[in-house]
Amino acid sequence: MNLILIGPPGAGKGTQAKYLVKKLNNFQISTGDMLREEIQNDSEIGKKILNDMNDGKFVSDQIVNTLIENALLDPKKKGRLIFDGYPRSLTQAKNLEQLLIKTNQTIDFIFFLNVNKETIIKRINQRKIIEKRADDDLETIIKRYETYMDTTKPVLDFYSQNSNFYEIDGGSKIEEITAKIDSFLNV
Ligand code: AMP
Repeated sequence: MNLILIGPPGAGKGTQAKYLVKKLNNFQISTGDMLREEIQNDSEIGKKILNDMNDGKFVSDQIVNTLIENALLDPKKKGRLIFDGYPRSLTQAKNLEQLLIKTNQTIDFIFFLNVNKETIIKRINQRKIIEKRADDDLETIIKRYETYMDTTKPVLDFYSQNSNFYEIDGGSKIEEITAKIDSFLNV
């Protein structure tokens, strides 16, 4: 089963993705984690993206699409993908469509965790204490939220007509979101 989790930073995509990885024995495909790993490894990609990531800007579609392609071409992950933070732009969504066709796969569920700005600010301020991420300061949080909402709106329009698109109140408690997801999955 392949799933997509869409939602602004702090919506709880990562938390739900980790839950689903265990439940379904799937793989979490988090572009944010992949990009942070590139920075940690001080790779060529890592050097290119460092400033944009720290400023809360999007990394170029080209870089992100390359990372995603590698994950989709991995045979052990076929049909077991949980996308967390991808696609975030219409170009990425169209790229994903092409890769799915190429690898003979489909997306079974798309979950949009919808959360307002105030809740995001509160949550990320808490996460900052625990995870110490460089892009979790207040100004950057607001920037990341606004960038996300602007760039991802066309992605929502692209998917929202699909019968497997579900909007969930991402402002609810973690367990409530999980229960909602479970009820849609019906597994
Ligand atoms: P996340 O961990 O998903 O909140 O992502 C952290 C940061 O990584 C974002 O603010 C972007 O700078 C970058 N990033 C993650 N996923 C993408 C993506 N699909 N497209 C562009 N930039 C991304």
